[in-house]
Amino acid sequence: MTVETRREIGEEGPGPSASAAVRLEGVTKRFGDVAAVAGIDLEIHDGEFFSMLGPSGSGKTTTLRMIAGFEEPTSGRIWLLGRDITGVPPFDRDVNTVFQDYALFPHMSVADNVGYGLLVRKVAAVERRQRVSEALQMVRLDDYGSRRPAQLSGGQRQRVALARALINRPRVLLLDEPLGALDLKLREEMQIELKAIQQQVGITFIYVTHDQEEALTMSDRLAVFNAGRIEQIGSPADVYEHPVTTFVAGFVGTSNLLTGDAATTVIGREGVFTVRPEKIRLADPTSTPADDEASALGRIREVVYVGPDTRYIVALETGGELVVTQQNLETSSMEALATQGRSVRLTWKRRHVLSLATSEL
Ligand code: ATP
Repeated sequence: MTVETRREIGEEGPGPSASAAVRLEGVTKRFGDVAAVAGIDLEIHDGEFFSMLGPSGSGKTTTLRMIAGFEEPTSGRIWLLGRDITGVPPFDRDVNTVFQDYALFPHMSVADNVGYGLLVRKVAAVERRQRVSEALQMVRLDDYGSRRPAQLSGGQRQRVALARALINRPRVLLLDEPLGALDLKLREEMQIELKAIQQQVGITFIYVTHDQEEALTMSDRLAVFNAGRIEQIGSPADVYEHPVTTFVAGFVGTSNLLTGDAATTVIGREGVFTVRPEKIRLADPTSTPADDEASALGRIREVVYVGPDTRYIVALETGGELVVTQQNLETSSMEALATQGRSVRLTWKRRHVLSLATSEL
């Protein structure tokens, strides 16, 4: 039944299943001529760490802002814990948002920043102090309550923002690229910390990022956005090991596509296929592949040494190219780089070949 027919017969709609924290049904958002969100259906489970992953402009932030209530959908409905919140203002939704730029009050101490939401809700001073102390402990900033935000590092400020967002104990926490301003090392540390905090508090986290590694590391499930639509939803392993479209294969990992002549010659049928670079082995061109293996001849066009691994870009005889990554178990950088220009046979297990649908955009 469509949303329209349901409204016509005066029903509230089925609401989400018992375990859904957030549900979006047929949601679109237009800004003039731009369809920022072009019709998405999504169900996020209670207690889940869910990421919305996609390139810049694919509609992630707009979707998050509609869940927060900062934007109203052009069409479609949004449920929060079984309640239709489509037209409900932000302050009346049991959600909080953490932004990339922290949005801390510079003139207030860390403790006052964290306790601000409780002050607004007129929570008594004793309880407020207790909860601020617990929240600061959770983000490992127990001793920083009296500092000003300017006296903290970027990672510490982001933790204050997190404590402030969690102190009201929202059912759902929305995070918009919260680690985007941090350097790589700190970001990796914070990813592990954020995930641990989420598991500790058991609150549903909805996390926007354009960083595929971040989404794979932290999420229970993720949705891959492309041009206002969702191309795939699944666990990190699902999405990485079994991408269903050319876009997902390329955005989450290296695309490694076999199409046209390469597909018909190497795979034996027409279509678009992918093999993940770490599933491919470099072998001597005269070697014979095993029964359960496929293979292709080519020449190493480029070698990129990246410390633990080496990436080989191989131009295939049939046209097209494949990327192969090999762990540098016993290979030195000199040996790896010396392979440039060599003829090779690439082999891989047939079961590692995935058939893809072509993305529209
Ligand atoms: P990013 O990672 O860069 O934040 P995103 O995936 O979050 O990108 P959105 O911010 O949701 O993407 O934007 C989706 C599209 O909608 C873009 O084309 C953007 O220019 C457009 N858009 C977003 N907000 C507005 C607005 N207020 N007015 C007009 N166009 C907008």
